[in-house]
Amino acid sequence: MSEVLYRKYRPQRFSEVVGQKTIKTILQNAVRLQKPAHAYLFCGPRGVGKTTLARILAKAVNCKEVKDGEPCNGCLNCVAIQEGRFLDLLEIDAASYTGVENIRDIIEHVKFSPSIGRYKVFIIDEVHMLSKAAFNALLKTLEEPPAHAIFVLATTEINKVPATIISRSQRFDFRRMSVSEILEIFDKIIADTTLKIEPEAEKLIAGAADGSLRDGLSILDQIASFGSTNITSSEVEEILGLVRLSTSQLFLDLIISENRAGAVKFVKDISFEGRDLVQFTRSVLEYLRLVLLVRVDEKNLAEIGLAAEEAAKLRQQATAMSPVKLSATIREMLEAFRQSKLTPVAEMPLLMAVLALTPEKTNIEVLPQETKSPTTSYSLPTTILDLGMIVDRWADVLAKVKEYNHSLISSLRLGRILKIENADLVLVFPYSFHRDTIDARKNRIVLEQVLDEVFGQKLRVKVFLEKDIKEENDLLAEAVKVLGKGI
Ligand SMILES: [Zn+2]
Repeated sequence: MSEVLYRKYRPQRFSEVVGQKTIKTILQNAVRLQKPAHAYLFCGPRGVGKTTLARILAKAVNCKEVKDGEPCNGCLNCVAIQEGRFLDLLEIDAASYTGVENIRDIIEHVKFSPSIGRYKVFIIDEVHMLSKAAFNALLKTLEEPPAHAIFVLATTEINKVPATIISRSQRFDFRRMSVSEILEIFDKIIADTTLKIEPEAEKLIAGAADGSLRDGLSILDQIASFGSTNITSSEVEEILGLVRLSTSQLFLDLIISENRAGAVKFVKDISFEGRDLVQFTRSVLEYLRLVLLVRVDEKNLAEIGLAAEEAAKLRQQATAMSPVKLSATIREMLEAFRQSKLTPVAEMPLLMAVLALTPEKTNIEVLPQETKSPTTSYSLPTTILDLGMIVDRWADVLAKVKEYNHSLISSLRLGRILKIENADLVLVFPYSFHRDTIDARKNRIVLEQVLDEVFGQKLRVKVFLEKDIKEENDLLAEAVKVLGKGI
């Protein structure tokens, strides 16, 4: 990963840290006045320098030759901290140690005086991951901290940190880094390597980093690994495009399989990583445009010009999406994109789209006595059924449905079979009463069971109104127009 490059940028004093100017000044002053707080809370996205500054602070308060609030980087304590073997600095990743026992261990440590330094410093990263009991234990310590203890709590999710902890800490909000700050660091790092990169290309990567140095270095690392001797902006664009494409494909897989929990987690994960959700939504829309083009005519695939693997995935997804599902997905994502610029909660529009596109899985209802109670599970067809085969044996289907449920027949007779697509059998009805009858869960289960008996495979029945099908077709046409113009 980017660790190699990341290590090249290891600021060892406050003045070497790029960005976060106010925070640096306050911390440096606290060291100079020998009045550090007992608890600091560093919040902000990942990769913006929270742990870097925490370590410099730990060094500065323990330095034997501290000058003007800066560590000397030469004394025994400074060197020990730099080499990660300083007994009075404890770094804990709360993501892996959330239990109360671990916090108790730490608190045991707090009581004892520092062994070699002036302060015992505890850096707890991702502090929001601590359990409630662990927070309570920590709170007790923060209420009466020993004079020699300094806690630096770092978090990417301040809203998950209890107010009682926040109120006992000095809080610093780290901001995303600007493109020019990231470029400044890039320049330093690149000067230290054999990498050659066009200024425009460098700027593109810094922009794509979206305020996180860590992300920027990870992209730079990926691009450097392609072994180009002189990285150009068109290479960077191509690689960034690939990253966006594969992320969109992963997301769309979850939407297609109606995996609500998975899709919600996906959105939360990319948000947690500090990615720009507006840019993500836009990438998904750009990808949906390709899906639409291939759905309309598979010949378009050749013109899109993707690598074999991405093209195969695109074809698979285009085939897996019915026009109804595809137009609904485009509509919801367009709405999410529109809302994304207005919302104060970045995740919300995407989560709303996910909820709309992934129907809630409910438990099988208890069926009335007069019907048998077959259970249904969905799987892809083992043989390919076509519309002709369904129509040919439709009379058998109706006859069998009658065995289960008389009232279902009259509604079913009024509908027409629109198509069969993967394992979805799409039926269309002129009136909503009949559509609703078929769509009632117990009736749909009966019908699906009968289809299984007649055709020997699991099919999912989807029902629509004639009028909606017309609207969906219009929508699809409209979507082609909208996406055709670009977003
Ligand atoms: Zn020192």
